[in-house]
Amino acid sequence: MKHFFAYIMFGLFFLCLISQGTAQQQTFQQVQPLKQEVLPISAQQVRGNIYQVKGGMGANTGFFINEKEVLIIDTKMNEDSARQMIAEVKKLTPYPVTCIILTHSDSDHVNGLVGFPQGIPIISHEKTRAHMDKAFQSARERIYLPNIVFSDTLSLYTGDVKGSTRIDLLYFGPAHTDGDAIVYFPGEKVAFIGDLIFIGREQLIHRHKNGSSFGLVKTLKAVLNLDADVFVHGHGDLATKKDIKNHIQSIEEQQIRIQALVKEGKTLDEVKKIYSNDTRTGDMRWPSLVEVIYRELTEKK
Ligand SMILES: [Zn+2]
Repeated sequence: MKHFFAYIMFGLFFLCLISQGTAQQQTFQQVQPLKQEVLPISAQQVRGNIYQVKGGMGANTGFFINEKEVLIIDTKMNEDSARQMIAEVKKLTPYPVTCIILTHSDSDHVNGLVGFPQGIPIISHEKTRAHMDKAFQSARERIYLPNIVFSDTLSLYTGDVKGSTRIDLLYFGPAHTDGDAIVYFPGEKVAFIGDLIFIGREQLIHRHKNGSSFGLVKTLKAVLNLDADVFVHGHGDLATKKDIKNHIQSIEEQQIRIQALVKEGKTLDEVKKIYSNDTRTGDMRWPSLVEVIYRELTEKK
C-alpha cells in the first residue's frame, strides 16, 4: 500500500543534504504577521477533495483528503487557529493528518505548526527550512522544523495505486521569499501558490529573505504555464490565470517605470515621492514594492 508516510520515510534519507544555511542577511527579527481581520475559521471545497481554510489567525491554508489520510498545506499562525483548522478537517473526515507542506517560512503560514500532532512529516523548500531554523528558537518550535526539503521539484504520490493522486512541489527561484513552494495538483488543475500574489493590496516581497520582484514575475510566468485553473493563495479569494496575468502586468509596469526613473538619476526618496502612496520608511522588513524594485535595480546583491 502506497502511503504518504512510507514515501516520506524514504525522503528522510535526504535529510543529510539539508543545508544549514548561511548567516547572511539575518539582521532582521522574525517577520511580523500581516494585519488582518480575524474571521471564524471555515473550510470550503476548492475542487474534489481539495479544500481551502479561511479565517482565524494567519494566512489561508488548505488540505487534501485522500483514501485514509489528510495532507495539510500551511498551518495558520498560532496553536489555537491550527487546532480550529484541524477541527474543520475532522468535520469532513476521520482520517489522520499524515503530512504537512509549507509554502514558505512566514510566521502567518508556519507558526501554527505547534498546534499539530508531533512526528508528522513536514516538507518545505530547503531555503524555507533555513529561515525557520533561525526563527524557531524554542525547543517546542524546533520539533516542527521541516524534516524533508527539496530544492527544485518533489513529487508525492498518495493513496493506492488505483486512484493514486500526484502532488508536485515546484520551485522557480526567489520571489516572495527565496523558498516559495508551489503545491500543484495536476489531476485536479489546482495550485496553492502561497503569497506569490496579493489581490487588491500591494505585493509583499521579503528582501530580508532574498525575495525579488523580478524573480516573482519569472515565477508567476511559470505558474501561468501550469495546466491549472484555480489558484489558492494566502490572503484573498481563489484566483484565476487572469488574476495572475493582471498581477504580472501591474508589477512589470512599475518595474519599467522605476527603471526609467533610475536612468534619469532619481534617488529612492524622489521615486517614492512620485508614488504618492508610498509613505513607508525605515522598516526594512516591510519595504514598499516601489522600494524593493528600486533597490533591486540599483544595489548589487
Ligand atoms: Zn508570506
